[in-house]
Amino acid sequence: MRDSWNLFPRACASGIFFTAWELPSNKEPSAGCRGWAAFFLFPPPACGTRRNHAIERMNSMGKLLTVGSLTAREGEKVQGMVEIPGGSIQLPVTLVNGVRPGKTLLITSGVHGGEYVGIQAAIETAASLQPEEVQGQVILVHPANPNAFYQRVSYINPGDGKNLNRSFPGDPNGTQTERMAHFIATQMVDQADFCVDLHGGDLHEELSSYAIYSDASTPENMAVSLEAARQLTVRYIHKSAATGGLYGCSALRGIPGILIERGCRGLWTPQEVADYREDLCRLMRHLGILPGTNAPAPSPVEFQYSKVLRAPKDGCWYPMASPGDWIAPGQKLGELRDCFGNLLFEAVAQEEGMLLYRIVSLAVNEGSPLCSYVLL
Ligand SMILES: [Zn+2]
Repeated sequence: MRDSWNLFPRACASGIFFTAWELPSNKEPSAGCRGWAAFFLFPPPACGTRRNHAIERMNSMGKLLTVGSLTAREGEKVQGMVEIPGGSIQLPVTLVNGVRPGKTLLITSGVHGGEYVGIQAAIETAASLQPEEVQGQVILVHPANPNAFYQRVSYINPGDGKNLNRSFPGDPNGTQTERMAHFIATQMVDQADFCVDLHGGDLHEELSSYAIYSDASTPENMAVSLEAARQLTVRYIHKSAATGGLYGCSALRGIPGILIERGCRGLWTPQEVADYREDLCRLMRHLGILPGTNAPAPSPVEFQYSKVLRAPKDGCWYPMASPGDWIAPGQKLGELRDCFGNLLFEAVAQEEGMLLYRIVSLAVNEGSPLCSYVLL
């Protein structure tokens, strides 16, 4: 096929006492109250147990926020490297456990290691966010794919050649990328009320800012995700049926989420990072995690699904449309030629839409994207 839809491999009494406490307490604001109620209704046995000690610690320290080996008590911020089970890789993680109860937000960046604007926005947000201003909890990963980041590799983790954005929900016994995906899904996504995954154009991509939400969830969760995307200052929104990425994974697990794209070409500027950070602040205000209300902003233009045109073979790519261009059915979006200049393939739009992103490297390899457009 000359093109393909963007459908990548795509959701006794003391027993009651412990069950109440072991619910992911940040899934609902009232879960902590349930724990307390169960405590008084069914006091623990007199003899000491490991669980009793853990509960006593929680009673004295408030709600805990834990990811792997890191734990932040209520009102505390903790930063550190977290080991992925199976060894050989650690992720930089920040936990901000607010002074008041509220929703839990997961902010991931650098799933693709060359998407610097989102990574720097997460680094700066992790450095500046303080528990005193937070109502709820925030988990930040910056970046989620450190091998790709430090080795400046597009799309994949050079540790095993796999794309983390196609690997969720992962496998605890799999390759490095699959273990990373499983750790993020089970240790982070599963305790979040909302997930935002910060992307951008990779080292060889060019795009305008946009947000994506998944259709792989309930209508209610889709509505929550779309409403959150509408709070941003990005230019476009569209939906996707893909489930291998983090926002698709969260949708399948019943947790709303979005992916944001800002920046491209392996570049980043302070203004682009500031714009990304403002998106995060607007999202946190919308979720009630930060105080205040969002100032009115131009609404992003909303589209349906996207369509990706891929290279049928290795070659040299000559794009003929730019991000933001309106395109008509039959319009040529670029040419693929061999190293002698012979035409290999014409990328032609089949429908009316708008060009979302394009590849800007001269070299492309078989099967990789050339450009993508979104449909009205
Ligand atoms: Zn990406």
